[in-house]
Amino acid sequence: MAADFSAAVLAWFDQHGRKDLPWQQNKTPYRVWLSEIMLQQTQVATVIPYYQRFIAELPTVQALAAAPADQVLHLWTGLGYYSRARNLHRAAQQVVSEYGGDFPRDLEQLMALPGIGRSTAGAIASLSMGLRAPILDGNVKRVLARYHAISGWTGSTSVQKQLWTLAERYTPEDRVADYTQAMMDLGATLCSRSKPACLMCPLRSGCEARALGTPTAFPEPKPRKQLPVRTCLMPFLRNPDGNIWLQRRPDSGLWGGLWCPPQFSDDAELADWLQEQGLRVSQQQSMTPLRHTFSHFHLDIRPLLIDVTEATGVAEPGQVWYNLRQPTPLGLAAPVKKLLQRVPQD
Ligand code: SF4
Repeated sequence: MAADFSAAVLAWFDQHGRKDLPWQQNKTPYRVWLSEIMLQQTQVATVIPYYQRFIAELPTVQALAAAPADQVLHLWTGLGYYSRARNLHRAAQQVVSEYGGDFPRDLEQLMALPGIGRSTAGAIASLSMGLRAPILDGNVKRVLARYHAISGWTGSTSVQKQLWTLAERYTPEDRVADYTQAMMDLGATLCSRSKPACLMCPLRSGCEARALGTPTAFPEPKPRKQLPVRTCLMPFLRNPDGNIWLQRRPDSGLWGGLWCPPQFSDDAELADWLQEQGLRVSQQQSMTPLRHTFSHFHLDIRPLLIDVTEATGVAEPGQVWYNLRQPTPLGLAAPVKKLLQRVPQD
């Protein structure tokens, strides 16, 4: 019965649930929302310092809405999936302009904000507003898929539908914030991906996957597809002062709004570009190649360190000679950050 399920989960939470995470203190929709977005695709331990820095600099939705995009992306640098940061920024601006800075209490309205899906809307509503709204993040999907031994990949439409029905059924009327937190904690701690601690689990007596003796067989992994490989040439142009030329990428698309060196498909294209810019090369050396994997392809980057002379003219808006010793706070794509650290400094 649904009541038994939630009662068991809540009793476990009272004893073992996490209650001291930074976003569990002084819970507001803004703080919960920020943590939920950061926690998508990222582990709690990684998120904590990013979250603390973000909240210290931008403590309210109004502060985030008014912040320059570069500041937001800089605070996000290293967390990856930068569309999360851009959506966060746009959503904050909408909360301020359309709702006077108060998050709407209606799930549909929350879901209409950029970057907020059904589960994130449910988390904001239940954790910070106490509204009865189910969530279905990766941890909860795993617990429910195992509890009911549901076959198939949790990203498929039919499995999603079954899981949402179950999430809806088990979410209680009372103590909904604790229940939501408890389900996330249960999935993150006991019902972990590779080593579920079934003996300590409050759901063990009714869990079908445990009864089958194969809990880790659920949920089934995403059907594998081989990722295509793309390549690019990425020149790190260094001027006589030792600074590296970066340009801001367009807001949409790969690394949108982040600062990167230009990219070329081959040496001939790079040579043409250098000529167009009137840049004279004094020396050039290859750097160690780097593979960066996106969700839908691998990018093999061939970096080059190119020393240019008399290079003062290419710093128009959206371009910068980046000082490696005293870096200005810019949002950098993760592989660019890594490669900049490899540029030798005299
Ligand atoms: S009994 Fe095991 S598999 Fe089932 S929900 Fe608990 S930890 Fe997960």
